[in-house]
Amino acid sequence: MSESGQEAQPARRGWTWSIRVGSLLGVPIRVHVTFLILLLWFGNVSAQQGGSFLAGVAFLLLLFGCVVLHELGHATVARRYGVKTSEIVLYPIGGIARLDRIPSGKAELLIALAGPAVNLVLAALLWTGLRLANARWPGFDNQLVSAAPIAWQLLAVNLSLLFFNLIPAFPMDGGRVLRASLSIFLGQTRATTIASRIGQGLAVLFAVFALLQRQPFLLLIAFFVFVGAGQEEAFQRGRAAVRGLTAREAMVTRFETLAPQDSLERAAELLLATHQQDFPVVDLWGRVAGTLSRAALLSALSSGGRDRSVLEVMDREVTEVGAETPLDEVLTRLQGNPQRPIVVVGERGLEGMITLDNFGELIEVSKRLGHPPSA
Ligand code: ZN
Repeated sequence: MSESGQEAQPARRGWTWSIRVGSLLGVPIRVHVTFLILLLWFGNVSAQQGGSFLAGVAFLLLLFGCVVLHELGHATVARRYGVKTSEIVLYPIGGIARLDRIPSGKAELLIALAGPAVNLVLAALLWTGLRLANARWPGFDNQLVSAAPIAWQLLAVNLSLLFFNLIPAFPMDGGRVLRASLSIFLGQTRATTIASRIGQGLAVLFAVFALLQRQPFLLLIAFFVFVGAGQEEAFQRGRAAVRGLTAREAMVTRFETLAPQDSLERAAELLLATHQQDFPVVDLWGRVAGTLSRAALLSALSSGGRDRSVLEVMDREVTEVGAETPLDEVLTRLQGNPQRPIVVVGERGLEGMITLDNFGELIEVSKRLGHPPSA
């Protein structure tokens, strides 16, 4: 029930409907508010079916504990490949480990396999424990809230997570395994096209099955798989379109910057005076200390912070590239965090800025000219 961070979701700025509940292995864990509704609902169903509210809630927490471990599996292997996981978010339909970028080939393959591998290990441990305790398989009772002992239920949960995620519905784990394997023979672009088509085909089958079986969660998963596969393919096409170009060709060079000590009022003046949506924040030494987005600025202003400094509300995570960085690599970094502008830094400090918007413009202009504007 989980995919490695393919979702094109904004970085955490302002209110995002998810609550941080802690962090594990250095990865912040967040819970979407709709998850809390699921928790209450499940507790209620449990109480109605003769169990207790608390037992229902506890079971769901254990289930999602397995989901978190699955996501940490992705995050741990991603780290070995130098990829940071900005967060793990739990939704009612599963978890997502949001990776800063998704590498290709063998790295993608191993990162994708790591999640299901965790569930395989958990299932094996539970099974061994149950065997040692001579516990007997209670059989399926096909109830939403099962009366079977919790260890058996968790064994079933981990086996379902294992097999469900391995369905080759790109961008789910199994689909990533498929894309990565195909890319060895067919190249990344062709592999992505094939994997996306298969993913969308399977999503349609999921949806039909979900409607027939009245499974609302599966219907939601089908929707996200369908949209996710389309997005991945669009990104891959963009990447192919800019092959051979560098960051220099896509960067904006005329823009305003802020200083960390500037007030938000000053930032608001610049927002009104320019077309800019994002402002690099440059310190006294000419280093980029962060970026301030329109959304973060407006949300801080609406909570009455016009005298606060830019330093307090800016995004301190900076994605820096050099002017000669290949543009397809820049796009990969943007995909990991679409709302965070990329700053182009050279020997003389900040040289330019790239956002998803001006990337789109570059591709549109290139299409009409038949070649990139500056080539
Ligand atoms: Zn996964």
